[in-house]
Amino acid sequence: MTERPDLNDSSGAQSAETGFDYLIVGAGFAGAVLAERLARGAGKRVLIVDKRPHIGGNAYDRYDDAGILIHPYGPHIFHTNSQDVFEYLSRFTAWRPYQHRVLASVDGQQVPLPINLDTVNRLYGLNLTSFEVQGFFESVAEPLEHVRTSEDVVVSRVGRELYNKFFRGYTRKQWGLDPSELDASVTARIPTRTNRDDRYFTDTFQAMPLHGYTRLFERMLDHPRIKVMLNTDYREIQALFPWKHMIYTGPVDAFFEYRYGRLPYRSLEFIHETHPVEQFQAVGTVNYPNDYAYTRVSEFKHLTGQNHPQTSVVYEIPQADGDPYYPVPRPENAELYRRYERDADAVANVTFVGRLATYRYYNMDQVVAQALATYRRLMEAAQTGLRE
Ligand code: FAD
Ligand code: UDP
Repeated sequence: MTERPDLNDSSGAQSAETGFDYLIVGAGFAGAVLAERLARGAGKRVLIVDKRPHIGGNAYDRYDDAGILIHPYGPHIFHTNSQDVFEYLSRFTAWRPYQHRVLASVDGQQVPLPINLDTVNRLYGLNLTSFEVQGFFESVAEPLEHVRTSEDVVVSRVGRELYNKFFRGYTRKQWGLDPSELDASVTARIPTRTNRDDRYFTDTFQAMPLHGYTRLFERMLDHPRIKVMLNTDYREIQALFPWKHMIYTGPVDAFFEYRYGRLPYRSLEFIHETHPVEQFQAVGTVNYPNDYAYTRVSEFKHLTGQNHPQTSVVYEIPQADGDPYYPVPRPENAELYRRYERDADAVANVTFVGRLATYRYYNMDQVVAQALATYRRLMEAAQTGLRE
């Protein structure tokens, strides 16, 4: 790839020798995409720091003691409808096509999730057709004029009984809240189907990075103008090196030292196990909506396609405290976030990007898209600045 000269750097060569154009906080998708674009696309000098001992953020993967590729922060399956995002990431990885399948353990059976024709037939011992199951859903659905909450979404589609079997318990475990207390967008992530399609996602592009996420990140960050610093909180070093602009991808409330109080982020405890069998469960993930403290069990070999005589799985146990993983979508949190967002907009030399910094329940592809859009905005602003 041809490198472009740094047209935006008004301080010229001196900055290249003595400091950085950008300090990027967080080496997850948000930080890594911006580091890559700013260095390779715009000729900027970038310092990217992460307080964890590795790059990749929550998408980080590694080989465990048994030699099995695992995702320490829970199963990460890449899926997107954006050709731009897929093509961009394809510069750094080859792919392994993979379509995720999930079974839910309900009433002593493991049945497909999203709820589809087979789910209903197996649960109730029926033999309905697609047409008939549509009528079944209509007969049990509770029509609502305004769908506001996560309970409304499900009850208005498939009625209260299926809601209770599949959604109520899982959501209460996952979020520590009743679905009636969460925005509709949370359970709306899961569709309902009248056909037999048992894929978890239906996006155009569904694949896993062939050599894993960490390798993808390594290739993104492998550039002479990118310096990576791990095991480092940015607050320890921000005054040690000159930099002009910060990209911040950590929790937005932490940046402002919780001046308006804490924004709730849901956490998880991950329990990893290796079993002396080739296969532990039939599909990548089995959900347990009504039993146990954990919500789901995922077996990595389904995702990665790795051949190995043993297998590794992860249990996810939701927690109120711990590392922040999920913003909690509900009106009062959105309101609190808006206060932080106003302050964030007012800090001229810091740009907030990613799931934690913009308090959005984003998948990986959405974070990549947001980071690419941010890059374009930064470049446009620099061009405008040059013209003025
Ligand atoms: P992160 O990956 O969280 O990166 C932020 C980084 O900032 C972290 O590494 C953190 O250590 C660092 N940081 C924070 N504060 C500081 C500081 N003060 N100093 C230095 N560094 C700091 N998405 C999908 O598309 N498909 C999936 O299957 C999927 N599964 C998921 C499963 C789980 C259990 C979870 C929690 C998320 C899942 N996601 C999935 C979402 C995905 O993880 C996120 O969309 C994506 O990783 C967010 O990237 P990010 O860069 O915004 O944030
Ligand atoms: N959900 C549920 N039962 C399930 C699966 C999902 O109630 O078996 C709800 C739950 O509220 C969950 C949300 O749907 O948080 C989104 O599920 P998804 O699998 O997308 O969650 P993520 O992978 O982001 O944790």
